[in-house]
Amino acid sequence: MKSREYWEKRAVQRKLQAERQAVKTADEMLADYDRAAAAIRKDIGYWLGKFAENNALSLTDARKLLKADELREFRWTVEEYIAKGQKNIDGKWERQLTNASARVHISRLESMETVLRQHVEELTGKRIEQTESLLSGLYEGQYLGRAFDLQKGLGVGWDLQRPDLHKLDKVLKTRWAPDGELYSDRIWKDKQALVSELNASLTQGLATGKPLQKIADGLAERLSVKKSAARRLLYTEAAAVTTLAEKDCYQDLDVAEYEILATLDSRTSAICRSMDGKHFPVSEMKEGVNAPPFHPNCRTDTCPYFDDWEELGGEPMRAARDAEDKGYQLVPAEMTYKEWEGRFVKEKAVENAAERGIIEIVKVLAEAPCTIADAKVSGYLLKDGAYHAQEFFDVGYTPDDAERLKAELMAAFDESKAVEYKTFPDGAVHFCIYIELGAVKKRRFRTVWRRDTPDSKPRFITAYRKDED
Ligand SMILES: [Zn+2]
Repeated sequence: MKSREYWEKRAVQRKLQAERQAVKTADEMLADYDRAAAAIRKDIGYWLGKFAENNALSLTDARKLLKADELREFRWTVEEYIAKGQKNIDGKWERQLTNASARVHISRLESMETVLRQHVEELTGKRIEQTESLLSGLYEGQYLGRAFDLQKGLGVGWDLQRPDLHKLDKVLKTRWAPDGELYSDRIWKDKQALVSELNASLTQGLATGKPLQKIADGLAERLSVKKSAARRLLYTEAAAVTTLAEKDCYQDLDVAEYEILATLDSRTSAICRSMDGKHFPVSEMKEGVNAPPFHPNCRTDTCPYFDDWEELGGEPMRAARDAEDKGYQLVPAEMTYKEWEGRFVKEKAVENAAERGIIEIVKVLAEAPCTIADAKVSGYLLKDGAYHAQEFFDVGYTPDDAERLKAELMAAFDESKAVEYKTFPDGAVHFCIYIELGAVKKRRFRTVWRRDTPDSKPRFITAYRKDED
């Protein structure tokens, strides 16, 4: 049995590891906020300039309908937004965009609100993706890392299961917060609030006759002030998931009690100061009550607590003495994490075919050279009334064939057959691949793909009936 210092030191190291991951994700997320702010300033500045006369635009003039040439340009913009539609983009927004592109009467103000909303939707989609990827990575890393520290500290090891997809999904859906809200609820609320604020700021700016550049700057500024709240939410969620991983680890490894470990410095809150050093039964461990986070941005952690560590001193634990009886193995002090993982961490055996199917699909998707958002296929290509849906129905697909069509599109992706390359000002590249598609009869379709950066996988944009030119 190791000394109390061992457990505290190991826990602090693990917590630091978690914090570093959270900081990295937060930095990426805040950079996205800056990019979105810059894009809003530029795009709204452009439209304001286009609608203005003598560099001024009254609210009354902004409420006038788009003129023919403005309407045409607005439609191109909306179609570009639809084409850009990415994973995680709200399906409802995608439908609204489709409706907007078909409208004949739309005011200048509404058209600018559409531009604003699109930027917020894109930002939100990324935010959810980044948060989910951080939280599931954190859970697995903290669970296994702390299990390693524990078994190494005890000097004995036994088999553990690596957290699988179902487990991670459950963690992401755990409502730990006192108000019962999920991180995704909060992000969604943030989105709604931001859209309303931007719209109000635009209208007020026009109504009070602000210079156009000031209006655009003000909108960009709205995004910047949201950054610290977004980061705080991410850190708090990361702290909560770290605690969930600790709790599951203690439970699975039969640790009866845990101790609160506050970082004591001038920034430590009164609550964390008062909790420091207290110990509680793992069975009663509850985030925000007797386990961190106790407040937003909380840095407090926990470590295992053993009643008898004083008496045991440097002696090995009882469990180690009858290690062989229980099929336990000794974990020598010099064993590395990699060696430990190879010996004790088991991948979950997959019981049924359906589950195997899911894991197969996840693997295939991860290894595929391209990505296709589900919403593109079910909510667009095969959506009754959508732009090109009839062309897919004509060759025999039905609205129920989304998975099949997606698989066929994926299978047909072959970049060596790509043609019609086009580079956009932001560096993204579009290209087309002509493929044969059809459930009853085969016809030639033009598929359009987009590569956002030279290193990213091409994303599926759209497909429609077209014979090669
Ligand atoms: Zn705290």
